[in-house]
Amino acid sequence: MIAPTTLKNTLKEYFGYDTFRPLQEEIINSIFSGKDNLVIMPTGGGKSICFQLPAILLEGLTIVISPLIALMKDQVDGLTTNGIAAAYLNSSQTEIEQQAIYSEIDAGKIKLLYTAPESLSYLEHIFSSQKISLIAIDEAHCISSWGHDFRPAYTNLGYLKKRFPSIPVIALTATADKATREDIANQLNIPHAKQHIASFDRKNLKLEVRPANDRVKQIISFIDERPTESGIIYCLSRKATETVAEKLQNANINAIAYHAGIAHTKRSKIQEDFINDTCQVICATIAFGMGIDKSNVRWVIHYNLPKNIEGYYQEIGRAGRDGLPSNTLLFHSYADVIQLKKFAESSGNVEVQLAKLDRMKEYADALSCRRKILLSYFGELISEDCGNCDVCNNPPQFFDGTIIAQKALSAVARLKGQEPIGTVIDVLRGAQNSVIQEKNYQELKTYGIAKDIAWLDWKQYITQLINLGYLEIAFHENNKLKLTEFAKDVLFHNKKVDLANLVATKEIFEEQK
Ligand code: ADP
Ligand code: ZN
Repeated sequence: MIAPTTLKNTLKEYFGYDTFRPLQEEIINSIFSGKDNLVIMPTGGGKSICFQLPAILLEGLTIVISPLIALMKDQVDGLTTNGIAAAYLNSSQTEIEQQAIYSEIDAGKIKLLYTAPESLSYLEHIFSSQKISLIAIDEAHCISSWGHDFRPAYTNLGYLKKRFPSIPVIALTATADKATREDIANQLNIPHAKQHIASFDRKNLKLEVRPANDRVKQIISFIDERPTESGIIYCLSRKATETVAEKLQNANINAIAYHAGIAHTKRSKIQEDFINDTCQVICATIAFGMGIDKSNVRWVIHYNLPKNIEGYYQEIGRAGRDGLPSNTLLFHSYADVIQLKKFAESSGNVEVQLAKLDRMKEYADALSCRRKILLSYFGELISEDCGNCDVCNNPPQFFDGTIIAQKALSAVARLKGQEPIGTVIDVLRGAQNSVIQEKNYQELKTYGIAKDIAWLDWKQYITQLINLGYLEIAFHENNKLKLTEFAKDVLFHNKKVDLANLVATKEIFEEQK
C-alpha cells in the first residue's frame, strides 16, 4: 500500500491537479499492490496518469507500449516539461539517438520509456540490465482482431507477461466490448487482471436517429436552427463528403470536405480553420477527428450508418467535450446497411464484422432508450432511461409483453444458448426443417409454443429483448443467442416486460422504402 497523501502530492507536484478523476486512484493502488490491470476508460478520461504516476514513484523503469510513433515525441515532450524523466525508442530515430537513450537508461535517469510494439527487440538489452517496474500497454484493443484497429505487432505483447511474470501489467483502452476485453486479457496473458471500467456515459450528448429521407434538406434545416454552432458530418465515402459539402455551400453554409485524398497541407489548413471557428462545418470521412482537440464541437451528424458501435461512439464523442449540451444525429438507411454488408463480406473476419453491423443496426432500430443500448454494448448497465434521446423524448406505444418474453427466454434456455436467433424462432414457431429434425428440437417443451407470432415479428421482439438486456448475441460463437443474468428475473420472478407495438416499426420500414 502507498499513502494516499503521497499519491495526492505526486499528482499535484508533477501534473498540477488537486484531485483524482474517477477510478484513477483505485487503479494506481491496484498497481502498487502488484496486480495486473485492464483499464477501460473513454478518450479524455485520464488514462495516462494511471501509469505515469506509479512510474514516477516505483523503483525502476516503466515500459509504455504505444502504437502511435507520430505521437510518441509529443507525449514524451509533455512529460519532460512536467519534470518527468521520459524517453522513447522507435524506428524513426537514428542509431546515435538510440544509443544516447540507452546510456541515459543505463545511468538510471529514465522513469518512463515509450516504444512501439514493433520495436520490442530494441528493449532486449534493457530487459537484461534494468529493473522494470511496470509494463503499460496503451490502446490495448489493437491486440484484438475483433476490435477495429487491429495491429498485428500487438499480438507479440503476450510475451512480456511470460518473461516478467511478477511485474504488473496495465493495459488501457477507450473502446472494448465485453468480448474484446476478454480477448485482450487472454492475449496479454493477464487473464486475472483487475478490470476497471469507467463510465462511458456522455450525458450531455443528445442521441437522435432519423430515417434517411432527404438527408441534405434535413441537414440544412438542422444547421439553420443553430447558425453559430460548429459540427462534423461523417460520410461513408470521399465522394459523399464532397457532394454534401457542395450542396451545403450552395445553401450558403460554411462547409468544407475533408478526407485522406486531400493534400496534407490542405488538410492541416482545414483542421486549423475548424479549430479556430473560421470553418463551421466539416464533411468528413472517419479519417477526420483523430487527435483533433476542439472542445466546442456542438454537433455530429452521421450522413451514413457507421459500420459498428465502437466507431459511432468514438465519432459522436467528438461533440461536446466541454461538457455542454450537444446534438448527435444519425441517418438510418437500409441502402447503407446493404453497402456496409458488402464491405464486411470482403473484409477479414467476416462474421464478426457482420455481427457488429447488426448491433449498429439494432441501435438505429431501437424502440427503447438508445443510451441504454449504447452503454450496454460497452458492458455498462444503467437502471433509468436517459431522457436525452429521441426514443425517451418521443416513446413508442408499449404493451405487456411478459408472456412473449418468457416464451422467448425459455426457448433460449432450453436450447442452452447454443443456437442463433433464426433457430430460436423456428423452435418457437414449431418449424419443420433439417436443423430441428437433426437435433430433435421438436422434443423440446418450448417447441411450437408461439406459432401465432409471425417470423419477422419474432425477430423484432427478440431484438427488443436484446436491447432491453435480457438476451445477448455471442458474436464470437457463431452469433448464438444467450441469456443474460437479468433473464432470470423474467423467467423465475415474473418480472414484467414492456414491449413496443410493432406497428411503429412497420411504418418506419415503409417510410424508408
Ligand atoms: P485518455 O488517455 O484517457 O484519453 P488523458 O490521459 O490524455 O486521457 O487525459 C485527458 C486530459 O485530462 C489531459 O489533459 C489530462 O491532463 C487531464 N487529466 C487527467 N487526470 C486528471 C485529473 N485527475 N484532474 C484533472 N485533469 C486530469
Ligand atoms: Zn434515452
